Amino acid sequence: MTTFKAWVVEKGEGGQSLAFRDFDEADLMPGNVTVRVSHSTLNYKDGLAMTGKSPVVRRFPMIPGIDFAGTVETSEDPAYKPGDPVVLTGWGVGETHLGAYAEKARVRGDWLVPLPEGLSPAEAMAIGTAGYTAMLCLMALDAHGVTPKDGPAIVTGASGGVGSVAVALLARAGWHVLASTGREDEAEYLRGLGAAEIVDRNELSAPGKPLAKERWAAGIDAVGSSTLANVLAQTKSDGAVAACGLAQGMDLPTTVAPFILRGVSLLGINSVTTPQPKRRAAWARLARELDREKLAAMTRTVSLPEIGGLAEEILAGRVRGRTVVEIA
Ligand code: NDP
Repeated sequence: MTTFKAWVVEKGEGGQSLAFRDFDEADLMPGNVTVRVSHSTLNYKDGLAMTGKSPVVRRFPMIPGIDFAGTVETSEDPAYKPGDPVVLTGWGVGETHLGAYAEKARVRGDWLVPLPEGLSPAEAMAIGTAGYTAMLCLMALDAHGVTPKDGPAIVTGASGGVGSVAVALLARAGWHVLASTGREDEAEYLRGLGAAEIVDRNELSAPGKPLAKERWAAGIDAVGSSTLANVLAQTKSDGAVAACGLAQGMDLPTTVAPFILRGVSLLGINSVTTPQPKRRAAWARLARELDREKLAAMTRTVSLPEIGGLAEEILAGRVRGRTVVEIA
């Protein structure tokens, strides 16, 4: 029997439980590429999976961890050979397919992306699903045609993972970035990433008017609920908001007013099943456009045994920026 260390979510009569234990390689799920995982990360969804606060895990036992970087160990996919460095985000890994908080993963080759040139495996996971999603948001705004000449851009949940990368990317692209945060003490951190102004998230989180004074031309929202409704209500005519998250809530108590009276567009972002060409384009842009010093400033590294203790922390909004899990 070949075993490796993994975090495992089990479901018993008392509900969901989480343990760090040996896992038998023979119990990995079907897939044509086996990867020796070197790094993973902590995302909001990982917090949900590990605590069971939302039914993210759909198969038990489950190894949580929705993204990884590593090296191909064996491959029946002609696109990959042993030794190739690879990255994976999404596709239900850590939800329906055994995931990343382990020394090994077996997945489908067509879920993988070659490690983008110019990024180390640790940097790729400092970006992780959160940073990759921030780039998908920026690409959606670009495709819509909104530009820094049209006005400022707001980022909600700015101190979090998606938010931190979004602030850095928008600033690099020339936007005047308004960073909305509930953490006053992170103002300097956010200015360091490129935020021009800090907005107290309390200004946005309570239910507001269907339309309010126009303040920004674009937005990247990781928060949902009344915050997204207020972001839409304060978006300039013909502006656009990319919505990717639900840290405040899954609801969206808005009206059609921003859409039909100001021509505002709401752009939905789903990073899980993004087709390969767009996936690779997003990673290539991240490798080119994300300032490595800013990436380092928003990242801390923990070991695999430590990650279980951070699940509650991220759900409580107490994790700043990005957390890399060093596995090997
Ligand atoms: P983080 O926990 O790192 O960031 C979320 C941030 O939201 C927090 O740091 C906090 O920022 C803010 N926040 C938390 N709770 C509240 C609240 N009750 N009201 C208002 N703001 C709040 O998570 P991630 O960056 O990993 O993910 C952000 C969101 O994006 C999650 O909902 C996640 O599920 C979603 N997501 C979606 C993806 C997709 O494919 N659509 C992919 C990746 C993530 P601050 O302290 O600065 O206010």
